[in-house]
Amino acid sequence: GMLLSKRYESTAAESDASSPPPTGEKYEYQAEVSRLMDLIVNSLYSNKEVFLRELISNASDACDKLRFLSVTEPALLKDNVDFDIRIQTDKDNGIVTITDTGIGMTRQELIDCLGTIAQSGTAKFLKALKDSKDAGGDNNLIGQFGVGFYSAFLVADRVVVSTKSPKSDKQYVWEGEANASSYTIREETEADKVIPRGTRLTLYLKRDDKGFAHPEKIQKLVKNYSQFVSFPIYTWQEKG
Ligand code: ADP
Ligand code: MG
Repeated sequence: GMLLSKRYESTAAESDASSPPPTGEKYEYQAEVSRLMDLIVNSLYSNKEVFLRELISNASDACDKLRFLSVTEPALLKDNVDFDIRIQTDKDNGIVTITDTGIGMTRQELIDCLGTIAQSGTAKFLKALKDSKDAGGDNNLIGQFGVGFYSAFLVADRVVVSTKSPKSDKQYVWEGEANASSYTIREETEADKVIPRGTRLTLYLKRDDKGFAHPEKIQKLVKNYSQFVSFPIYTWQEKG
């Protein structure tokens, strides 16, 4: 069912004139998503690196979808014919950024895709978890079913998704935090963050997971996953 209690965040709370905090519309997660997020965030699951496999696979799916549509509608490519995935690491700040030139998401798609459980794998995961009598069962189930986008919260306490669909002339920013029951969506207004199309995910890593922002670590993982991806994956690091 379609969820969402919606309200507006107060804009008056902070007052840093040099960079006013962008505020967004606030949405509650669907109850199942909240449950899933809780499990992910509090899980003792040790194989956290699966987050990268999930996010690369989403980036690859997004490129696939647009490539397919662009066969009959080349204008969707917006003058950029390249399909690729770029992963940037900033180890000083513990940030990993994953950018693709795929199909992106409209505002409504952000709500439908990143606020509800649309995906069958995740629904199966929750069912299996319910069926599982073993209290520690979730630790294995996370890897077994894959928890998709939400696996970002295995390693990140804040996730920002900036995305632009060729169906919309606007770019939107979804922002969620671990241990929160809601997320926000706002329009992208920062000129240097505007992309021609596609999606950029920024992961602000948890204190204990900042090691994933080390370029060698990411490169090693990417090497394992990239053999299953038909688009180039570039990695580079922020120079401090
Ligand atoms: P699944 O990939 O199995 O559908 P996910 O939880 O991984 O489930 O992703 C949920 C949905 O969010 C995807 O189906 C897709 O519609 C959307 N999505 C996630 N990442 C991206 C992305 N990089 N670009 C466009 N859409 C995305
Ligand atoms: Mg996925």
